[in-house]
Amino acid sequence: MIDYHIHTNLCGHAIGEMADYVKEAISSDLEEIGFNDHLPLNGDSGKEQNLSMAFDELPHYVSEVMNLRKSYPEIRIKLGIEADFTPGTESYTRELLTRYDFDYVMGSVHYIGEWAFDHPGERKEWDSRDVDSVYKEYFELLRKSARTSLFDIIGHCDLVKKFGNRPVGEISKDLDDTAKVFKECGVAIEINTSGLRKPVSEIYPSCEILQVYRKYDVPIVFGSDAHTPDDVGRDFDKAVSLARQAGYQEFVTFENRNMKHQKLDDSKSIVSSQ
Ligand code: ZN
Ligand code: FE
Ligand code: FE
Ligand code: ZN
Repeated sequence: MIDYHIHTNLCGHAIGEMADYVKEAISSDLEEIGFNDHLPLNGDSGKEQNLSMAFDELPHYVSEVMNLRKSYPEIRIKLGIEADFTPGTESYTRELLTRYDFDYVMGSVHYIGEWAFDHPGERKEWDSRDVDSVYKEYFELLRKSARTSLFDIIGHCDLVKKFGNRPVGEISKDLDDTAKVFKECGVAIEINTSGLRKPVSEIYPSCEILQVYRKYDVPIVFGSDAHTPDDVGRDFDKAVSLARQAGYQEFVTFENRNMKHQKLDDSKSIVSSQ
């Protein structure tokens, strides 16, 4: 099994040494992990607000992953990065991504306009918003993010539900449109177990949504969104049963930004919830 969503203490809101994440992955019998820390945000605000690593920490992040690869040959370690998608920052992100040989780039929508809708500090803003419009804007941003062709994987693709806000109206057309665009753009999505540890208490995405992606044959990866070593591979038994329930028989891995398919059965171990 793979865990493609592992953060590091460089982003300012995760704890533990990078080696501790690797050790935890090895003891959980994972075959492959990907570090996927937050790419420096455009401007200085990322590090100041503990949202991402600083611009000048990126070389260190990359070399640390390379060092760990040598120190722990018993597990495959991929170089990933979680890049925020906000319209207007595409050329900044594109330029930064060309500097290193990432195995994959995960695009994540955490902002609607200036609003960090999933940030606990900005949760109050939900009270003054129309939930259906927020969902509409969110799915529109997901489609835009895929269309940039900057990303191999789209992260936690219903993060908008994090605090339990649910739309009243139908969202099925938006889901269909989004899945179609993802398929056209060739991106994979992530089954992200961190939602189980959030107020919504549900994996990202829900089974209902995952079935739509399955219908359009959009590939999947698995991620824990670990911000502490303990969370590596957490609840992956649930993630795998969700994938199967939605009809998936395969997941994908990435190397040098090339996608490879792997049977779900082939992954020898599935980490259970602790
Ligand atoms: Zn984070
Ligand atoms: Fe994220
Ligand atoms: Fe993350
Ligand atoms: Zn994340």
